[in-house]
Amino acid sequence: MSVQERTYIMVKPDGVQRGLVGNIISRFEQRGFKLIALKLVHATPEHLEKHYADLKGKPFFPGLIKYMASGPVVAMVWQGLDAVKTGRVMLGATNPLASAPGTIRGDFALAVGRNICHGSDAVESAEKEIALWFPEGIVQYTNDNEKWVFE
Ligand code: GDP
Ligand code: MG
Repeated sequence: MSVQERTYIMVKPDGVQRGLVGNIISRFEQRGFKLIALKLVHATPEHLEKHYADLKGKPFFPGLIKYMASGPVVAMVWQGLDAVKTGRVMLGATNPLASAPGTIRGDFALAVGRNICHGSDAVESAEKEIALWFPEGIVQYTNDNEKWVFE
């Protein structure tokens, strides 16, 4: 766990279409995380198959790729204390029916196949996903808020 920990967060095509981008960004900002990368991208099926390589073979895999390629996504990297685990808690359970109210999925979604957001599940997968979605690299900058968020 580190103050420099980074996680890959993505608003999926349904989250973009439903106008939830600002709300999702606000939650990470308000929590005290630092935005270090952001872009809107309409990903190809090939790119998404790499992102979801671990799920290849699952019965829902073809539908998942089609869903994720159906429109642009918002790709982001957020940095801060325990960012990966805390990001997952903020997203809620994979199946929105099991997501607690107050989480992103628990507030905005009902169906596992339309759960509006993605978050890395481990530090290693976060680093892999950041490299996949931001091959151009990440801009570093100082945020003066940090001294008010961390000891
Ligand atoms: P996540 O890390 O919480 O996003 O969950 P997973 O890595 O297990 O699955 C990736 C994504 O695949 C999920 O966010 C869902 O959009 C989708 N998915 C997972 N399980 C199912 C399922 O049983 N049915 C359908 N239709 N989609 C699923
Ligand atoms: Mg996952």
